[in-house]
Amino acid sequence: MSVKVREIFSSIQGEGIYVGRRQIFVRFAKCNLDCDYCDTAHKRDAKFCMVAGKKKFLKTADDIVNEIKNLDTKDVFSISLTGGEPLIYTSLIKQIHKKTGIPLYLETNSTLPEKADEIKNLITYAACGLKLNYPKFYNDSLKTIEILNHCLKSGNLFVKVVITKNVDVGQIEELTGDLKNIGDLPLVLQPQTGIKWDNTYKNTLLTMSETAGNFLKEVRIIPQTHKFLGFE
Ligand code: SF4
Repeated sequence: MSVKVREIFSSIQGEGIYVGRRQIFVRFAKCNLDCDYCDTAHKRDAKFCMVAGKKKFLKTADDIVNEIKNLDTKDVFSISLTGGEPLIYTSLIKQIHKKTGIPLYLETNSTLPEKADEIKNLITYAACGLKLNYPKFYNDSLKTIEILNHCLKSGNLFVKVVITKNVDVGQIEELTGDLKNIGDLPLVLQPQTGIKWDNTYKNTLLTMSETAGNFLKEVRIIPQTHKFLGFE
């Protein structure tokens, strides 16, 4: 049997509006996209699961749930379902929800609206990535965000866009106009890790923030903080 979960560990959230919150991370194997800035092994099933740094062979949903429970501490805010793309594995997410009782935080690339619809009532928080490098999924992404936003409490969902050097201000203007039609959603502009923050790039980020601010009240520029803090 292929292993659906590549890693389980406890750490802090390093991205987005919940930065710094303690979470148990469940990193699913595989993704339906292939972004060139991806920092996770997402192209194949895992052969084993790393649990808090140790190699384990988890065969069933109960094995996964038990490892999650072992990592639960009083400061845990939620389980981060991350990847890869967690929405590929809706039946496993249902089991995790039913058997742990810990709030679920979904980190998704937002390209699978039917899957989002299937588990929308089980999710408490959502970080919805919007991949401007995949224009063919743009409408599906808006649909996913709309489905989840409809179910989650106000403020529990935010949209995250990685700002590569290929993203331009016009795309941010179009996107934020479309998001405004769904709701006044918090937006995080996430600078791509590893690229040089020269003055041109920084000015572009500020212009994007100003542009987005014409449509949405809460716009933030937040990098991947766990990388420079040395957390997983
Ligand atoms: S959507 Fe996320 S996990 Fe999938 S390839 Fe892109 S960055 Fe990697």
